Amino acid sequence: MKQYSRVWAEIDLDAVRSNMQAMQDNLKEGMKLCAVVKTDGYGHGAVPVAKEVEDMVWGFAVATFQEAMNLRHHGIAKPVLMLGYTEEARLEDLVREEIRPTVFSLPLARRLSGEWKKFRADCLEKGEPEPQKLKIHIAVDTGMGRLGFLMQDEEALSASVEEIQEISGMEGLETEGMFTHFARADEKDPTSAKLQTERFCRMKEALLQAGISIPMLHCSNSAGIVMLQGVGFSMARAGITMYGLYPSEEVNEEEMKFRPALSLYSRIIFVKEVPAGTTVSYGWTYTTAGRTVIATVPVGYGDGYPRGLSNRGWVLIRGRRAPIIGRVCMDQLMVDVTEVPGVQEQDLVTLVGRDGKEKVSVEDLAAICGRFNYEFVCGLGKRIPRVYL
Ligand code: PLP
Repeated sequence: MKQYSRVWAEIDLDAVRSNMQAMQDNLKEGMKLCAVVKTDGYGHGAVPVAKEVEDMVWGFAVATFQEAMNLRHHGIAKPVLMLGYTEEARLEDLVREEIRPTVFSLPLARRLSGEWKKFRADCLEKGEPEPQKLKIHIAVDTGMGRLGFLMQDEEALSASVEEIQEISGMEGLETEGMFTHFARADEKDPTSAKLQTERFCRMKEALLQAGISIPMLHCSNSAGIVMLQGVGFSMARAGITMYGLYPSEEVNEEEMKFRPALSLYSRIIFVKEVPAGTTVSYGWTYTTAGRTVIATVPVGYGDGYPRGLSNRGWVLIRGRRAPIIGRVCMDQLMVDVTEVPGVQEQDLVTLVGRDGKEKVSVEDLAAICGRFNYEFVCGLGKRIPRVYL
C-alpha cells in the first residue's frame, strides 16, 4: 500500500464486491442489480468500483452525462443509465455510447426523438448506416415528487398512460425500462415503500391494458433491497450499501451486514506541548485548560472534512481517540493528544476507519456535524488520493 504523507483514502474493493454479493443474495429470484456510481461512486471512485462489480450487474446508474462518458472512456461496456436530466448530452453520443437517458416528460421525449431524426438524416446523408434507436427509461412519480410521469389521481394516470403510449411509438426511441424512486424506504415501517410499489404496479397494469409492455421495471434503492428484498420486478438500484454504508439509522446493521469500503488516513505533521491558556485555531474557540500536547493534522474542509467537526469530532492515533480542538481549517486541524502515550510526528491518524479496538465511522462523524453519511463521502475532495486495496 502506498503511504501518503498528507491525507489519503483507502478503498477496499473486496468489501464493495462482497456488499454487492450480499445484496444479490437478498434479492428476490431473478432480479438483477444496477450499481449506482454517481458523484464519482459516492466519493469512492466510480471507475474502479464499476470495474470491480461489472461482472455482477446489469449496468450502472449515474446522474450526469460526464459521469456516463467517464465510465465509457475507461472501458466500462455495460449499460449506463442517467438518472437525471442532462442538457449537455449530445444525442449522437447517447446513441453511440448506449447511454440511456431518463425520460420524465412528453416534451423531453419529443426533443430526443427530434434529435434522433436529425442524427439519422445526417448518417444517411454521409452514407453511414441508420443509427440504433435510443434506449430510454421512463420515470414514474409514485410519491417522490421529483421527476416523472404523474399518477396522483385517475386523471393524471390516464394522461400519463396516453403520453407514455405516444412515446413508445416515437421514431428513434426504444422504451427499455421504467422506474420509480422510493422516498421513505429507509424507514423501519415499510408502508410508504409498499404504497409506492402498488402505485408503480398500477401504472404497469394500466400500460399493459393500453398494449404497452416495458421489458425492464425497477423501483428499489439500497433501503428497499435491505428491507424488502428489492421489492420485485426486474432490477434494483444499489447505491449506498454497495459502499458498505447504511441508508439511515433505521435501516442499519441489524438488518444486514455490510463492510464499509472507505477508510481515511493522515499523518501528524507537528507536535507541541503548551501550557494552560493557549488558544487554538481561528476564532479562539478553544483554550487549553492545562498542560496540553497538541498535534496538527494536515486535513481540512478543503479536503471535504467538515468544519462542523470543529471542537466536536475526533480522530484515532495509536489506538486512542484524540478530540479535535478549535476550528477545522481549510487544510489542517488540531487534536489533543495529551492522552496518547508516545505520540510523535508522522504517526498515522485514522480519520475514518479502525485503529486497534477503536473505530470511527462515517456515520459517527456525519451525525456529529449534522450531515448524513451520503453527504460526507460525496463531499470528500478531489485532492484526497484514493488508494485501492
Ligand atoms: N435510484 C435513484 C433514482 C437515485 O436517485 C438514487 C440515489 O440517490 C439511487 C437509486 C440509489 O440510492 P441509495 O444510495 O439509497 O441506494
